[in-house]
Amino acid sequence: MSEAHGNSNGIMDISIIGAGPAGLFGAFYAGLRELKVEVIDALDEPGGQLAALYPEKYIYDVPGYPKVLSRDLVKHLVEQTMMWKPQMHLGERVQKLNRNEDGTITLGTDKGEHHARSVLICGGVGAFTPKKLPNPEFTQYENNGLFYSVKEKSIFRGKNLLVVGGGDSAVDWALNLEDYAKHVTLIHRRDGFRALQKSVTELMNSDVEVKVFYELKTIGGNGKVQSATIFDNRTKQETVIPVDAVILTLGFNVDLGPIKDWGLEMLGTRYIKVNRRQETNIPGVYAAGDISAEEGIEPLNLIATGFAQACVAVNFMYQHLNPGAKAFPGHSSEKKL
Ligand SMILES: Cc1cc2nc3c(=O)[nH]c(=O)nc-3n(C[C@H](O)[C@H](O)[C@H](O)COP(=O)(O)OP(=O)(O)OC[C@H]3O[C@@H](n4cnc5c(N)ncnc54)[C@H](O)[C@@H]3O)c2cc1C
Repeated sequence: MSEAHGNSNGIMDISIIGAGPAGLFGAFYAGLRELKVEVIDALDEPGGQLAALYPEKYIYDVPGYPKVLSRDLVKHLVEQTMMWKPQMHLGERVQKLNRNEDGTITLGTDKGEHHARSVLICGGVGAFTPKKLPNPEFTQYENNGLFYSVKEKSIFRGKNLLVVGGGDSAVDWALNLEDYAKHVTLIHRRDGFRALQKSVTELMNSDVEVKVFYELKTIGGNGKVQSATIFDNRTKQETVIPVDAVILTLGFNVDLGPIKDWGLEMLGTRYIKVNRRQETNIPGVYAAGDISAEEGIEPLNLIATGFAQACVAVNFMYQHLNPGAKAFPGHSSEKKL
């Protein structure tokens, strides 16, 4: 996504796992302290839970914003973070963390390896993977007409599109792609939507063909989506509709997954134990945001606390990387950026 700045020996000062609010703000602070930083996230877009679970909801408890749409907060965070041009590795899941003899850390991902002098884990509730339907025949259509997210709207231009789901993403994408696609059908298994009421009203007033109590039975075609068989779950009656593309937005599964096997001291199965500097038990490895907790203190899993923890972590990481230096970064208002 972008080139890095800082030292030039290829090794990062800080690798951040997770591009949710804590990871993004951590990357901003690392940039402010002129550290060479990268962010790795399993999702295809930054924003963590805000982007994946509630992009269209308003948030009321972020300092400085009386009310902010989740998606807009992510946009501003990304803008703030990208001023330092950190390396962004999206769609990449970290599977292994090993501390080397020289104190550096190697991260193994599903795409390769990353090397860093320190690591900040901002993994939230874990890596998200899209929920899929159990149909084995769907695999052949994945990214060949069958999608779980939308990366590029233009590929739907002139297409007959079927959107499956009843949450924010389904409603949002049906509306967003209405002007690109030839025809959009949205099916949902219930008559109640889990989306922003304003968007549902917009959907009902749009040209999107909405079919409630309908589910997807199968996809037809020869390796390329050509039709979809849908059924009314009240009568079981099936209908075959000609479509070129299907977007399944059924939500996400979250799983801390491999993080539990990295030798980190955990609190239960859900939290990485940290101290007041956000340090874990592994030297050079820190954690912040929803994934971190202090022993004996009830964690407050909020965006505001994640920001503060990321700020604390990165400034003490700076001190870890520069022994003898002050952790306190000074005031940004006194810098010329
Ligand atoms: C519906 C809903 C509404 C909410 N409303 C509010 C609210 O109004 N106010 C508020 O303060 N908070 C709210 N929250 C909570 C808030 O979203 C979380 O506190 C916040 O997202 C935590 O940020 P984070 O950066 O720690 O983690 P996350 O946002 O969970 O981001 C973690 C990121 O790490 C990535 N990741 C995890 N493991 C790996 C791995 N192994 N490799 C690569 N990437 C990995 C994930 O893909 C994810 O993108 C809400 C939460 C939900 C679900």
